[in-house]
Amino acid sequence: MQTLRLGRTNLMVTAVGFGGIPIQRLNEEDAVAVVRHSLDLGINWIDTAHGYTTSEERIGRAIAGRNPRPILCTKSHGLTAEAYAQEVEQSFQRLGVNYIDVYQFHGVSKAEQFDKITAPNGPLDVARRLRDEGRIGHIGVTSHNLDVAIELVQSDLFETLMFPFNFITREPAERLIPLCRQHDVGFIAMKPMGGGLLEDATLAFKWLRRFPDVVPLVGIQALAEIDEIMRIMEGPAELSAEEEARIEAIRQELGTRFCRSCDYCQPCSVGIHISSVMRLRSAAKRFPAERFYGQQTQQMVALVEECIDCGKCEERCPYELEIRQTLRENAEWYKEQIALHQSGRA
Ligand code: SF4
Ligand code: SF4
Repeated sequence: MQTLRLGRTNLMVTAVGFGGIPIQRLNEEDAVAVVRHSLDLGINWIDTAHGYTTSEERIGRAIAGRNPRPILCTKSHGLTAEAYAQEVEQSFQRLGVNYIDVYQFHGVSKAEQFDKITAPNGPLDVARRLRDEGRIGHIGVTSHNLDVAIELVQSDLFETLMFPFNFITREPAERLIPLCRQHDVGFIAMKPMGGGLLEDATLAFKWLRRFPDVVPLVGIQALAEIDEIMRIMEGPAELSAEEEARIEAIRQELGTRFCRSCDYCQPCSVGIHISSVMRLRSAAKRFPAERFYGQQTQQMVALVEECIDCGKCEERCPYELEIRQTLRENAEWYKEQIALHQSGRA
């Protein structure tokens, strides 16, 4: 597969990377097999996170003894030096390596988070020390918020940025991606298939191929999925007129519902975690059953009933999403899923 330079890390990565979220849903053997199969097909880099439960350990098992070893990227949510240092050490142990190519700050989507990671003697200083010691190669960051992401890139503190990018969430193409080029920051496209909401991989990946310096991460949980994506990446890049029309139709259909997880709509008057409920159907496809049907998710969805219809969230959402309606629909749908799950049918 074609390789490209990941910004000023100078790492040469394949045109798609392996995303480590969905393997949490598999059993251990299948997870290891999916990782190995993807590497056998030529993918040379893997992204995971300390927060993705079993993902780092499973990847560690899959790559043990592999030569050459794939490029490894992982991340921590730690917002204090102690929390961050502890998570990084666990990542080394779980992955079974003593060097990680790119260590990212996970989900920096608020100005306060940016302040915390860059505080004197804070997590960024820990990351720099690890880089000086040769234990990590490069420092990256991930975000869902366009304004914060722009500041992250402009700060020149990070060598890579991971941000959602697909044919519905296409806002980064206007300013963020050109800014990354200007600052030589490697742009990694998170959620190329909208976190599972875009079902046609051909449309999703052909559209992304218009951006030859953007590298998408593919969350994979079945061998056939990666085979299909490899075929698309190696096939013709041009979208036909009919494919363009289908993309437009999907945009029209999902346009008022597709949440970017940017949290501009917050704070909700009654504390509903709006983006998580908006993206519930995608979570069903990405996260393990224990998490999707667990107490915490049930409580989060139950809070939708407390909505007082103030409409403030919709005034703040830059994408004019029909938040209240989608929250109610998703809460109803979740109740049905719980009932099916409890009856053993889901
Ligand atoms: S309309 Fe409902 S969801 Fe939106 S801010 Fe008000 S209470 Fe929260
Ligand atoms: S509902 Fe709108 S503002 Fe809120 S997270 Fe989703 S896209 Fe962003």
